[in-house]
Amino acid sequence: MFDNLSDKLDKAFHILKGHGQITEVNVAETLKEVRRALVDADVNYKIAKDFTKTVKDKAIGQDVLSSLKPGELMVKLVKDELTSLMGGDAKGINLSGNPSVILMSGLQGSGKTTFSGKLANFLKNKKTKKPLLVACDVYRPAAIDQLHVVGEQIGVEVYSNRETKDPVKISQDAIAHAKENGFNVVIIDTAGRLAVDEAMMTEISNIHKAIQPQETLFVVDSMTGQDAVNTAKAFNDILNFDGVILTKLDGDTRGGAAISIKSVVDKPIKFIGTGEKMEAIDVFYPERMADRILGMGDVVSLVERAQEQYDEEEARKLQKKIAKNQFGFDDFLNQIQQVKKMGNMKDLIGMIPGAGKMMKDIDIDDDAFKHIEAIIHSMTPEERAKPSIINASRKKRIGKGSGTSVTQVNQLLKQFNQMSKMMKMMQGGGGKKMMQMMKG
Ligand code: GDP
Repeated sequence: MFDNLSDKLDKAFHILKGHGQITEVNVAETLKEVRRALVDADVNYKIAKDFTKTVKDKAIGQDVLSSLKPGELMVKLVKDELTSLMGGDAKGINLSGNPSVILMSGLQGSGKTTFSGKLANFLKNKKTKKPLLVACDVYRPAAIDQLHVVGEQIGVEVYSNRETKDPVKISQDAIAHAKENGFNVVIIDTAGRLAVDEAMMTEISNIHKAIQPQETLFVVDSMTGQDAVNTAKAFNDILNFDGVILTKLDGDTRGGAAISIKSVVDKPIKFIGTGEKMEAIDVFYPERMADRILGMGDVVSLVERAQEQYDEEEARKLQKKIAKNQFGFDDFLNQIQQVKKMGNMKDLIGMIPGAGKMMKDIDIDDDAFKHIEAIIHSMTPEERAKPSIINASRKKRIGKGSGTSVTQVNQLLKQFNQMSKMMKMMQGGGGKKMMQMMKG
């Protein structure tokens, strides 16, 4: 996410780090580079220029040159400004209605249907919400099918009606259906077009007028940069929407849309999409995003994601197993599934301060666990529970069955043993032994 921009900003700050004494000249030079980095990221030129001017004024106001750590102070000023440009505090969605109606708008291919599913899944996991998805793309039968597939995947009901071509009627009927059947959130997925056109705008605005949603969201592909900003403006002029959803941030190396959209339409970014899976949705926190852009990681989000997957009862069971030396490959597999649910690897690594920069050229694919999983799947239940019985001939069989080699099987067994030992050590004596071991 935003690798190119992070890189360029990092280089800009190097100018300050490289000098013993910081002068007005190299502060100006740094800011020029910051501006260039923003423009390269597809941030509108005027926004980039205003941005650096504000930072410069603040730097003068805070007397950066005579401060103890001018470089750090400059980074902080840039971070604060980025945060405020992206909207300051995080903004939630209005779920006060019963049902709360959420209308999705945006161009075709922006990720509306995928996001409708993600949001339904996100709300469903909150336990107090029972969402209903509504298919209002009356032009493309495939779009209705797609929403049904998504609904099935996450276990959320989808309302559709292939008999009518009237999206206003479908949405009104869907809301009535929701009231009768106890759904407290209605998410309406609408038809998009490849570009902004009048017919689409009239249609979405008619739905909007007829159903008066609590929340109208505009979905846009962040990789389209300035186009995203222009499309947002066109939709906002007609709909006066409540918030923006930026999708495909996982593929966006520049970040121009994320940075400039708020200041152009004056509407907050509420959620982001960071992958194709249903779990790849995050609340948008401007400050955390600014941290990530500046290569400072985002530990808070990382911990939150881990907590979402944390199941106390499961954890207790696991602890008992470790204590009794019963931690086997089935448990290991389980742990891998949990980690995978947290998001794609590259994204997770990017949240660790400093790690994103270090690992940016290493290709970490989502299938990082593919071999491990294949090897474990080729083991018998007995072998998984008691790995010590895996002898040479079993290793050979497992290697063959999983399409890997005996060396890879050995490697996994070795890693597994090391991990088991470490877990045992952390259990007994509250990590004391481990500390001793580390001290040598
Ligand atoms: P719609 O036409 O607006 O409903 O768009 P879709 O939901 O069908 O999405 C278009 C394509 O973008 C699909 O292939 C999705 O899998 C993909 N997509 C949607 N959101 C994301 C995202 O956050 N990251 C990535 N990488 N792909 C996404």
